[in-house]
Amino acid sequence: MKLLLVGEVRDDRLTAETAELSGFAARLDAEVSMVLAGSADALPSFAGRLYLADLETCGEFSSDVHKRLVLDAIEREQPDAVVLLHSSYGWDLAPRLAAAMQSAQVSGVVGLDDGGYVVESCNGKMRRTVRPLTDFAVLTIQPGAFAAAPMAGSPDVIAIEAAPDSAIEFLGCIEPERGIDLSRAGVIVSAGRGVGGADQVELVRALASALGGEVGASRPVVDAGWLERARQVGSSGQSVSPSLYVACGISGAIQHLAGMKGSGFVLAINTDRDAPIASVADLLVVADLAEFLPALTAALEQR
Ligand SMILES: Cc1cc2nc3c(=O)[nH]c(=O)nc-3n(C[C@H](O)[C@H](O)[C@H](O)COP(=O)(O)OP(=O)(O)OC[C@H]3O[C@@H](n4cnc5c(N)ncnc54)[C@H](O)[C@@H]3O)c2cc1C
Repeated sequence: MKLLLVGEVRDDRLTAETAELSGFAARLDAEVSMVLAGSADALPSFAGRLYLADLETCGEFSSDVHKRLVLDAIEREQPDAVVLLHSSYGWDLAPRLAAAMQSAQVSGVVGLDDGGYVVESCNGKMRRTVRPLTDFAVLTIQPGAFAAAPMAGSPDVIAIEAAPDSAIEFLGCIEPERGIDLSRAGVIVSAGRGVGGADQVELVRALASALGGEVGASRPVVDAGWLERARQVGSSGQSVSPSLYVACGISGAIQHLAGMKGSGFVLAINTDRDAPIASVADLLVVADLAEFLPALTAALEQR
């Protein structure tokens, strides 16, 4: 099988998640090449053909331009599938590529099963296995679902370019919220939907304070406005790697795990002993947060 990986660059470096594309390819024992909008001055470690477009000449980000770059690499490489991360970049690009190629698209792959791709549906509550029926397919893989494969070697660079014209005009951007950087926190106590309400978040804050840590959140907690968006941990939030991560009423959806998989010791508190968070927790306390959190905080404060 031949796969064309679409790498992602941030701050002039290949993102850590790009190595998960390689991990996915390794699981399929595939021959790989990569397409990237980056810089010839900061080439990624990668053993294979790298179709490189100079980010500077691509102009302001435009999915039209990036689509044409990937289509050019597809034309030259003739892969069986193009693989992107299920990131905001991948969500945007994948359907455009599939439409241009008139091919199947499988989004948010979290596993491989019997020749098919496992995808999540119903907001992660259900898993389905699907198989593309076209010869060529566009795939996006969920960050955190496949172990990163170490990337090493010097790429065989093939320069590509696309005219920086687009059907969309860039008018400006809104800078992201700054001020809460969870990436350096040594201890994070995160609130999940299981806390039950905005007022109950205080229990999580009190434990974080007793441990000298920061407060994090799962996405539903942020969506409900119980905590600031800047505290969200996960594939569409921050990636964290504290030495202690306390997951309070968090089920352990793959999008959340993607953001906290670098944590040291993981303590999960959940009423459901079979919640998926159990698979990554070093210690699972099966308890109601309303009872357990005040007791734990009081015990820590006494010490
Ligand atoms: C494209 C996309 C991107 C996403 N990005 C993110 C992301 O960045 N971060 C993220 O977190 N999610 C993200 N999600 C959402 C994700 O799929 C899950 O829906 C979400 O993580 C679930 O949050 P939760 O664990 O807080 O809630 P739930 O899944 O509802 O889990 C609540 C848990 O609390 C437990 N519980 C209930 N009551 C109590 C109690 N009294 N005491 C103890 N435990 C209790 C339950 O047993 C359950 O396990 C994303 C989804 C999509 C589709």
